[in-house]
Amino acid sequence: MKNLVDISPEIQEILDDALEGRRISENDALRLLKARGDDVLAIGLAANKIREKKVGDIVTYIVNRNINFTNVCINRCRFCAYRRDVDDADAYTLSIDEILEKTKEAKEMGATEICIQGGLNPKLDAEFYADIVSSIKSEVDISIHAFSPMEIKFASEMNGCDVEDMLKYLKEKGLDTMPGTAAEILDDDIRDTICPEKINTAWWTKIVKTAHRVGILTTATMLYGHIERPENQIKHLKVLRDIQDETRGFTEFVPLSYVHFNAPLFQKNKTREGATGIEDLKVHAVARIFLDNFKNIQASWIKLGRKFSQVMLNFGANDLGGTLMEENISLSAGLRTEMITKNELERMIEEVSRTPVQRDTLYRKLAAVPME
Ligand code: SF4
Repeated sequence: MKNLVDISPEIQEILDDALEGRRISENDALRLLKARGDDVLAIGLAANKIREKKVGDIVTYIVNRNINFTNVCINRCRFCAYRRDVDDADAYTLSIDEILEKTKEAKEMGATEICIQGGLNPKLDAEFYADIVSSIKSEVDISIHAFSPMEIKFASEMNGCDVEDMLKYLKEKGLDTMPGTAAEILDDDIRDTICPEKINTAWWTKIVKTAHRVGILTTATMLYGHIERPENQIKHLKVLRDIQDETRGFTEFVPLSYVHFNAPLFQKNKTREGATGIEDLKVHAVARIFLDNFKNIQASWIKLGRKFSQVMLNFGANDLGGTLMEENISLSAGLRTEMITKNELERMIEEVSRTPVQRDTLYRKLAAVPME
């Protein structure tokens, strides 16, 4: 059984460094992302070992609900099948009462977090964002994880204030944490093609660092599998690693595998048909190895599917994300997104011989870990 995996010497050297706790360079990470054959399995084994050292056998998940409060958006990101113009027949914007109703339902179903994001609707104003947060906080005891850095920029522009003031204002109203979405690929050459109207890398970085500084922790994400190459993925991961070195404000990294079916750019044959399975494996494993200052790597069951997200638990991931209850972005992009229960998540975790633990947004454990 010895030497069952045939590893090339240069990959072995990089993995040895990582396993001994030495930070790997961008070039090394690029070699890992370009690896093939048995080397991919070796990278997975190393990522799994590093995960084990860092967080042990616990795999976490959260009971939460997604609320996408409007699909009206002035931007036209070319991978986005969710956005609508204000006068489209299926354009919608939820009222504060509807958002509140959904939050109360989620709370009754055991959710500890509500995740709120939407398009950039020119008919709304900054007060709407503040009202969402304050009305939920005044009626429901639940953690509010809301508004991407792009939405923060949009709200601050509508309000005529700077992003720091907007972040402080929303925090004061009850915003707890933020999703680190709108990151896509943090390389402006790629952004210019897939989302030219979105905030650029410098703005994304500035808003996230400011959020961390004023006490709003965020997640970090990466949308991969469209037009980017491993070089761009590494640039992205380096931006995240540098921010984390400075602020320690990221709670987790969530790789988001691109859903191509209904994406406008795919329909013009301008993107790949999403990532391949091997690419998914490598992105998760290399993220675990390269992002040595991140504790948590999430496998998104909604993007990867239940079966493949379970496999990621052996390729460096230690979290399966949330129950979500509803998800409109991936649904619009063409994915079947039937919901998942807490019991199903726990079964997926137990079947890889790990211990399921329900967590809150900040990764505090909400259920006792069973004794051996
Ligand atoms: S990704 Fe977000 S900002 Fe871009 S078009 Fe879609 S809803 Fe608008």
